Amino acid sequence: MNTIQLQEDILGLKKENDVTILAHYYQPIEIQEIADYVGDSLGLSRTAKKKANNYIVFAGVDFMAETASIVNQDKHILIPNYESCCPMAAYLTPEMVREFRNKYPDLPVVVYVNSTAAVKAESDICCTSSNSIMIVEKISQEFNVSSVLFGPDANLADYTEQKSGIKCIKMPEEGHCYVHSQIRPEDIEIAKKKYSHTKLLVHPECIRAVRELADFVGSTAQMYNRVKNSSNDENKFLIGTEEGFRVRLTQDFQNKNFYSVKDKLICYNMKKHNLELIEYILKNLDDQAFEVKVPSDIAKKALIPINKMLNYS
Ligand code: SF4
Repeated sequence: MNTIQLQEDILGLKKENDVTILAHYYQPIEIQEIADYVGDSLGLSRTAKKKANNYIVFAGVDFMAETASIVNQDKHILIPNYESCCPMAAYLTPEMVREFRNKYPDLPVVVYVNSTAAVKAESDICCTSSNSIMIVEKISQEFNVSSVLFGPDANLADYTEQKSGIKCIKMPEEGHCYVHSQIRPEDIEIAKKKYSHTKLLVHPECIRAVRELADFVGSTAQMYNRVKNSSNDENKFLIGTEEGFRVRLTQDFQNKNFYSVKDKLICYNMKKHNLELIEYILKNLDDQAFEVKVPSDIAKKALIPINKMLNYS
């Protein structure tokens, strides 16, 4: 079956079974095209919470599906390929969070949504790359402190600290995203020579030396809005994030040009889903092999920091 036939088939099954499909911007474009909602982690968390459907198919990595399960304990959250995991989340364990707390008992724990449910359950508040600055400002005011514990992404911690002036103690020092941290200033230099008169947009998970070269730093949703609100003169953009997002921009803004700062900026973990797997799930909704269910005791604890973030956002 070709892509268009498969997509039509999926759209029919989705309607018939009253299923919502959520997809991250880093998904292959043919999956983004059949989703009810495409967005970044914050948008997906909010949408998962609002959706009334009994089944949500989540085309994203494991922690995103877990977050959907935490905020929708009564619904079935299905992930097309359970091997789609975020390696960054593995940098921080609940035991490590407890050790940091013992060392810094007065400081609040802020965890990036790119973390396991068990880690979220140990935290005071969650954040995303869209709202991390505002979240550390609010939580440090609430705790009346000038430092917070922040994990697992050391680059997002550094960016948040730079922008907020609140010290973000990294949990751990080496947490990073292998996609964004591979971008180097030399790549930017080469790309800028190749594509002149471009605006450089990068993700805060990039290293500081790269962020400092950028015209704009933000989450995928923020970069999307930056392009949407750009003037007619700004029609060439260098994109410093995963390839799926650049493809999406190319599709949505056909009067502008988008170039990647580097070849092969691909999150292979995000690309483990495909249309065949989604079609299979829609035909086998009760197959528990695809269901992501966070145990209720952990979900209950993890819901508190997630809701606290959503209420602040
Ligand atoms: S792009 Fe990076 S942070 Fe996002 S899922 Fe892939 S490895 Fe994790």
